[in-house]
This record gives sequence, structure tokens and C-alpha cells, in this order.
Amino acid sequence: SLSERLESAFKQLKGQGRITEINVASTLKEIRRALVDADVHYKIAKEFTDRVKEKALGAKVLQAVSPGQLMVKLVQDELTALMGGQAASLSLEQKPSVILVVGLQGSGKTTFSGKLAYFIRQKLHKSPLLVAADIYRPAAIEQLKVIGQQIQVPVFSEEGLPAVEIARKAVTEAKNHGYQVVIIDTAGRLAIDEAMMQEVADIKAAVNPEEILFVADAMTGQDAVNTAKAFHDRLAFTGVVLTKMDGDTRGGAALSIKYTIQKPIKFVSAGEKPDTLDIFYPDRMAQRILGMGDIVSLVEKAQEQYDAEMAKRLEKKIRKNQFDLNDFKEQLAQIRKMGNLKDLLAMIPGMGKQLKNLDLNDDAFKGIEAIINSMTPEERANPDIIDGSRRRRIAQGSGRDIQEVNQFLKQFEQMRQMMKMMNKMGSINPLHIRKN
Ligand code: GDP
Ligand code: MG
Repeated sequence: SLSERLESAFKQLKGQGRITEINVASTLKEIRRALVDADVHYKIAKEFTDRVKEKALGAKVLQAVSPGQLMVKLVQDELTALMGGQAASLSLEQKPSVILVVGLQGSGKTTFSGKLAYFIRQKLHKSPLLVAADIYRPAAIEQLKVIGQQIQVPVFSEEGLPAVEIARKAVTEAKNHGYQVVIIDTAGRLAIDEAMMQEVADIKAAVNPEEILFVADAMTGQDAVNTAKAFHDRLAFTGVVLTKMDGDTRGGAALSIKYTIQKPIKFVSAGEKPDTLDIFYPDRMAQRILGMGDIVSLVEKAQEQYDAEMAKRLEKKIRKNQFDLNDFKEQLAQIRKMGNLKDLLAMIPGMGKQLKNLDLNDDAFKGIEAIINSMTPEERANPDIIDGSRRRRIAQGSGRDIQEVNQFLKQFEQMRQMMKMMNKMGSINPLHIRKN
């Protein structure tokens, strides 16, 4: 995978004191190859690595960072810059604002239109109107209506009218009823097709949209770039939406589209539910392409779910070397709340590869939870009192082997020792989550 490639590329630089022409060349070659594998066009990959090389050779390696770390930073900064630097925003000045959603069939236009409506209402606090302008498949109109019902956003549709007329009428309807944003879901074809292009061009001319968002399936890689170019040549769209980022995505499409078309990627969509739409953050995507773990998302996810008060309390207990099995039990419950443990851990840099060979299912935790649940509160508060006969009782009560109980208690003791040691060294951060 791309991340494995890059990991080994960066490894070559580890332990070397200076960035020189020689040690940079092979690393950049690996990076270039990795980018091409991730569907970045080879010309773009080449230009990219040339730019990184220039900066790397000019850079002085500070004592605090290794050449490897410096290269990671250079590569990441360069990727971020290439993808637009800052997160892009929607322009919603018109009254009403019209957003035209275009793209191939199956790219995710209808799903995205629903998500966008939800986003506009929930996050931007404006009232949206969805417009079903895909008149060729009756199922398409129905699909949008179902989505509209789910998110409680009205859907404008009209039988027997051409798409252009529907769009025009919808804008009038929005004016009359005070909808602030009109989202027009258009028809797509399986491939670029003149009739489709003409139709969206006509809609554009009729309703003068403030935003034209081109929807691309991130899984389609280099094809997405060619399609984007064809649409842009005809429509001059204002932004790109990358869908299906929850799949085995090739982040390379983001880079290639941005580089080729020079239009911002405005949203990424990762799932079929209405709340799985995200603003596109170039720095996060750079991290993702580099496979260094989606740390920011992890932190946000953790912050959302993690009870800050409890975290403080736990930290205090750890500082005073009072962390016991009652606390551990609470921690486990917190981790559970955050979702699938393996998915969470996979977001930590460098973890992805190690997790592959690890059988880390939730059953492992069920066993531990059963063991802890079979202890008395005093035993949890003071694990030292858990002697042989108590261990047998706990094993029986939890339905686990006595060896498993022993092993768990030993691991917990090791963990406590480690916390003590960290306390002595003066730095603790129990979940290894960066705080702001
Ligand atoms: P359209 O033809 O462009 O309107 O595409 P649809 O919105 O109908 O989506 C096509 C298929 O892709 C549907 O089965 C959607 O549920 C699915 N889909 C759309 N967006 C996403 C996404 O972000 N993630 C996943 N996993 N599936 C998606
Ligand atoms: Mg559709």
C-alpha cells in the first residue's frame, strides 16, 4: 500500500544526519512511485518530488529533528499546499443561492445533494430546497424524495417537464417561499455524453448557479481526473466533491484533480448517511495520502466522545499512582463508546500495518470486562488483595480460565508500573491523545 511504501521510504532516511543529494534521491523515487500507485499522474508526481527535493536540499536539519522527520514535514506541507492549503468554503450570496450538482451516474450526486442540504441547515443555519432534476429515471426522483423525508428537507419535483424548466420553476418556488439555498440534483450518464452535457449547460444558463459542484467517486482514480476535465471544459464548475472516501480510497484522485483543474475540493463524503459529509481539509488529506494516520479525526472523535471531566479525574488519579481497576473499567467503557477499537487504533500513525496481523476483536475486551465485572469493588480498588482463592472465584464467576485472570492482573500491574515511571519522568498522557 501507499502508506507502507512511504514508511519504508522514510526509513531509509532514518539515522542519517544530513539531507544530501544521495540520501534524498532514493527516498524521493519511492515517494514518486507511491504517489503514482495512488493514482497520481506520473507527471504530477514528478513535479511534486522535484519541488520537495529543492526544498529538502536547501533545508538545514535542526538538531531536534532527524532528516527523516524533516522530509515527512516537507512532503506533507507540499502536499497540503498542492491541494489548496486552506479549506474552501461555499459561496452563498445570491437570494436564493443556487447550487448545481453535476457528475456521472453513480458518482453519488443524489446522496451528496441530501447531505449538502442537511449540512446547510445544520451547520450554516439556512433553509434548503432540494430539486429533483433527474427526470429520466422515475426511481431517481423517488430516491431524492426518500432522502428529503429522512432529513426533513422539502423536495421540488414536477412531472412531465424538461429538467431546465423544473430548475427554473424551483428557483421561483424558493423565492416565493423563502428558501435560501436551492440544490439541483441533475441526471448523469455512465460516461461523458453530449446530451447530458448540453442539458446541464442549459440548466446553468437558465438559473445562473452560484456554485456548480462536480461530484467524483474517489474510487475511480485517474478516470475521475479525465471526467473532471471534460465537465470543467464545458461547465467551468466552482468546486469538487469527492465521494466514497469510506472505501479503500485512493487519495491520489484528490491531488490529481486539484492539480489538473485548479478548482478547490470543497467536500468529502464518507458514507451513505446524511451526517457523513465533511469539509475538505487539505492538511488532513495530505496526512491520509501519506498514510500517517488521520490523527486529527482521531482526536476529534475522541474529544467528542470522551468525557473531559472524567479524563481530568483519571489523570489526577494516575498522577497520584491511584489508578485502579474501577478506573480501568470506566476507561474500557469509554473506548467502547468511541466505536470499533481496531478502527480507532488504525488511525494512529504507524499502527495500521501492525494491526493487520493482530487479532484484535472486541471479544478480547469482553473477556477482560467479564473478569473485572466479577471482582468486588474493593478488589478493583485494591488489586493487591486478589490472592489465589479470589482469583479462582473471579475465574469461575466470569467463565474465563484462571490463566486468563492471572495474565490480565499481571498486565494491569505492568501498566501501573509504567504509569508510575511516567509520573517520575514528569509526563503523562494516558490515551496518547494530543490535547489543545
Ligand atoms: P448518482 O447516480 O450520482 O445520483 O449517485 P447516488 O447518489 O445514487 O449514489 C450511487 C451509489 O453510491 C448509491 O448506492 C449510494 O448509496 C452510494 N454512495 C454515495 N455516496 C457514497 C459514499 O460517500 N460512501 C459510500 N459507501 N457509498 C456512497
Ligand atoms: Mg442520482
